[in-house]
Amino acid sequence: MVSIKLFGVREEDKPFIKQWAETHDVEVSLTDALLTNDTVDQVEGFDGVSVSQQLPLDEIVFKKLNQFGIKQIAQRSAGFDMYDLDLASKYDVIISNVPSYSPNSIAEYTVGQAINVVRHFNAVQRKTAEHDFRWEPSILSRSIKDLTVAVVGTGRIGSIVAEIFAKGFGSKVVAYDVVENERLDGVVTYKDTLIEAVEEADIVTVHVPGGTDTHYLFDEKVFSHFKQDAVFVNCARGSVTDTKALLKYLDNGRLLGAALDTYEGEKGLYPSDQRHTDFQDDLLQQLIDREDVIVSPHIAFYTDAAVENLIVYALDATLDVIQTGDTELRVN
Ligand code: NAD
Repeated sequence: MVSIKLFGVREEDKPFIKQWAETHDVEVSLTDALLTNDTVDQVEGFDGVSVSQQLPLDEIVFKKLNQFGIKQIAQRSAGFDMYDLDLASKYDVIISNVPSYSPNSIAEYTVGQAINVVRHFNAVQRKTAEHDFRWEPSILSRSIKDLTVAVVGTGRIGSIVAEIFAKGFGSKVVAYDVVENERLDGVVTYKDTLIEAVEEADIVTVHVPGGTDTHYLFDEKVFSHFKQDAVFVNCARGSVTDTKALLKYLDNGRLLGAALDTYEGEKGLYPSDQRHTDFQDDLLQQLIDREDVIVSPHIAFYTDAAVENLIVYALDATLDVIQTGDTELRVN
């Protein structure tokens, strides 16, 4: 019987893994530990490996996988920037990812968080908790229908966000992307530059991939072109935002607020329990302490549909490599 070792397994993954294993008649062994130099020996004797990795793997891990006859690592996320793909290839290890597992989940969360910032959610919650039930100008809001939304990156997720705002709320939607999405003909108006898109927008939401091309795409210069009282939403990758520049434009009153599901220093933090540690990330703490910012720990995707798809697509890829030597989801 084919056997697969899964690392980084969370409680909510288990029923979907069990169901997949029964359907495919595959033996699975689960651990919540991550794949590291210390745990790689657990792979010996298995036919395949699936992980939910956040940090890079040392060469010794690839070397041992190769010695154990493992031909692949199936990453249970879209992002694979933590892998040294050349190193993986050097040891004949195919890396696969799950490029799309529930774009609707992320799009729905994005829209919800944008509305929460526009409607002063944090302030209203605090006031209500203090039994201050007054209506006052500080929490006076605007109707989403009257706002212009800029969607930056109109791929799988951004295109759904654009459609929800345009068709669901009747907002005007402008967009910026290096490649225009034909599906959005008649839904959005594409702008030639990022600055032209943000200059018009009351809500700016970013859905581009991480990487060198998009690192600090939202820097001081771009924030300086935001409209007065604009809202910034980042449910994409932390690295696309220069957090210090964002804080400057929140402090100087240009931006109304921000919703940040991702953060440039999140690796090793999201997800983890830091309640009993001496929390040292001052930049993240500044964001958390602000009433005009809603911070969440990279949970836009976190629905049952997404968790199931991550498991099923990753394990299908593992089985493909074991049975055919390759997978459509390989990234190296
Ligand atoms: P996608 O590849 O389908 O779309 C990305 C779009 O960005 C493409 O249309 C591409 O042309 C465009 N793009 C690339 N570089 C650009 C640039 N420099 N300027 C403008 N546009 C550019 O990706 P997707 O599946 O829609 O994912 C979007 C983002 O969401 C990614 O950053 C992904 O990592 C993130 N994501 C977040 C979560 C979460 O839970 N928060 C979950 C999954 C994915």
